[in-house]
Amino acid sequence: MDQGGTSRTIPLLGHSHGTDGAEGSSSGSDAVVIVPQASVSPSLPMQVPAASPAKPGTTVEKSFRIPVLYYHSIGVQPDNNAVLDPKKLEEQMAYLAKEGYTTLTLQQFLDIWFGRMEAPPKSVLLTFDDGYADNYTYAMPILQKYKFHATMFMLPGKVGDGWYVDWEMAREMLKAGWDIQSHGMTHPYLNQLKPEQQQEEIDEAARLIKEHLGVESEVFCYPYGVFNKETLRLLMERGYKAAFTIEQGFTEKTQNPLQMKRLFVGGKDSLATFIQKLTKGG
Ligand SMILES: [Zn+2]
Repeated sequence: MDQGGTSRTIPLLGHSHGTDGAEGSSSGSDAVVIVPQASVSPSLPMQVPAASPAKPGTTVEKSFRIPVLYYHSIGVQPDNNAVLDPKKLEEQMAYLAKEGYTTLTLQQFLDIWFGRMEAPPKSVLLTFDDGYADNYTYAMPILQKYKFHATMFMLPGKVGDGWYVDWEMAREMLKAGWDIQSHGMTHPYLNQLKPEQQQEEIDEAARLIKEHLGVESEVFCYPYGVFNKETLRLLMERGYKAAFTIEQGFTEKTQNPLQMKRLFVGGKDSLATFIQKLTKGG
């Protein structure tokens, strides 16, 4: 079983298209369409209705800014900014541990977002996009060492091709304290798909994750960070509580929960750059 040794080139989704935040730009290339909030707000309210309101009387009305870091592949490819050396990941996790950071579970993150819980003073949400098998091989043991949590956004349509986690690995990651959610089936540009194709991407991924992992899909991560009004409508209808873009910045209460910002951690980032992003939001 080849799970992606360090000597081969992983067919990175983000990298091959030059987007998905792999270059760490703030708004992406021409292909990235970030729908401005103003253009969707007339028809789409800022809060996701019904599925996720805080219980009356239990709301913690407090502003917060949480760094939501996102990674892709973990391996040794010094020239590829989308691949982070395991040694650097280790160094970053050691820093978080030393500084007393809390790596949130996805449930904690949502509880904080929806006002059911106050954010620990130093909170961070670690996310890994695409579900590369090297996340299992390298990232999981490193995070386990520090008893850290993370969230992986996987592509059920890629399971079985060797470069990505299979269901067995995903189950082990769940046991190790990871949350696993959907990144769609096959990593398309959702904004370029017909509504029914978008629906298929979203629903089939959720169905397979439920079937194989017993996990409900409630937080989405847009492939390449792109979406359109139809994507938002589909996610709202299905009661998704949050969705992540690749817009750079802290995640803050002022953001639409279906258009949350994150912070890209690049393979070429020094520890100083990592700390800068973590503490300054970019
Ligand atoms: Zn991706």
